[in-house]
Amino acid sequence: MNIVIEGVDILTSDSAVNSAADYIKNADIGIKDGRILFIEPAGTGPSDFKPDRRISGRHRLAIPGMVNAHTHCAMTLMRNAADDLPLDKWLFERIFPIEDRLMDDDVYWGTLLGISEMLKSGTTAMADMYLHMEAVVKAFSEAGMRVNISKSPLEFHSGGKVLDAFDEFRDYYKKWNGRENGKIKVYLEVHSTYLWDYESLIRASDLAKELNTGIHIHLLETAKERKDSFEQYGKSPVEICVETGIFDVPVIGAHLVHVSKEDMDILHKYKVSAAHNPSSNLKLGSGIAPIPAMLDAGVNIALGTDGAASNNNLNMFEEMHLAALLHKGLGQNPELVNARQAFAMATVNGSNAIGFGSDTGVIKPGMKADIILIDTDKPHLNPLNDPYSAVVYSAQGADVDTVILDGNILMEKRELKTIDEEKVKYEAAAASMRLISG
Ligand SMILES: [Zn+2]
Repeated sequence: MNIVIEGVDILTSDSAVNSAADYIKNADIGIKDGRILFIEPAGTGPSDFKPDRRISGRHRLAIPGMVNAHTHCAMTLMRNAADDLPLDKWLFERIFPIEDRLMDDDVYWGTLLGISEMLKSGTTAMADMYLHMEAVVKAFSEAGMRVNISKSPLEFHSGGKVLDAFDEFRDYYKKWNGRENGKIKVYLEVHSTYLWDYESLIRASDLAKELNTGIHIHLLETAKERKDSFEQYGKSPVEICVETGIFDVPVIGAHLVHVSKEDMDILHKYKVSAAHNPSSNLKLGSGIAPIPAMLDAGVNIALGTDGAASNNNLNMFEEMHLAALLHKGLGQNPELVNARQAFAMATVNGSNAIGFGSDTGVIKPGMKADIILIDTDKPHLNPLNDPYSAVVYSAQGADVDTVILDGNILMEKRELKTIDEEKVKYEAAAASMRLISG
């Protein structure tokens, strides 16, 4: 389908150009076969371009779709079910028992609910890590979402039972990686260095190398994790990842709250992307990741919501806002994490972190058309003035009016096109009630 967005203001997120040229006013964006064909001053696009759909850009700001670099999409089912607890109590005593009862259907509806919420707040790609991955991939395929799915080659069950699922992972990878016009990417999930033993970490990195894929791992979320690692290995989890070959492949490192200067240099050296989850880290009382120092060390910083059970929503505008405020307050320095940096974290950095960087994260000709339109005809977005400030400090997820993903319209005038929102809310609520009541 050919689409033209007419007379729209664009924040391209293209770090290759300077900040002024990154903001294009009153332009037409032409989209053909899922990719951006042209960006030209309004009314001056190629005369032989015949759009099937024209979308008005009046009172709209086009930005790249947000990228949620760390989430557990189906945990929407556990939203508001276990709060105000520390991570180990929350995870082991409350969340794992519920997850033991999960069935494929529950995960399918929970994933669709998470996708609905993310599309409605402008997220077009995510790195999802969860269980029942056939149900997960079905939901993503049907919704038309872009996703990096990470599946674990070890299955952890109640009572400490661990099943070897390396062959199953290999089959899943071969079946799904690159499917849906490249929108589905499959990484290995390594939950963490505390849940996994050393030998299995080596096996995981060998498998990732064999398949030429990446790894999504939780790293240094809590002070306890750091302390325990030093007690067990005399090293930080980051150093364990180097030793076991985990960092020899592309890695999404979620959290990275308790990192030392040495850890940061390692992350930079091995090009590990950090997924900063400010809401989840605050809510679980885990701490605050030293983002300004990691930026100085040259680490690619992306943003994530984590699961809805530890956030308790999946709204990337909120994470971006928080990422821009938190470090200023903590460091008593308003120059830390400026609006442009926070915007890059939510868009282009996220895209690079989850392996879609060559195709998405930036609005420019040749890239995939993953574009969201923010309705700026709102009191809190007037006057707009600096567009970075407007998006990071004033805009809300609910201001997103239209979502285009891979050149397909997935939401228009806030109505989802590939998901029956009412049915999804109903089914997910029913699943949630059954799971939580046990
Ligand atoms: Zn997580």
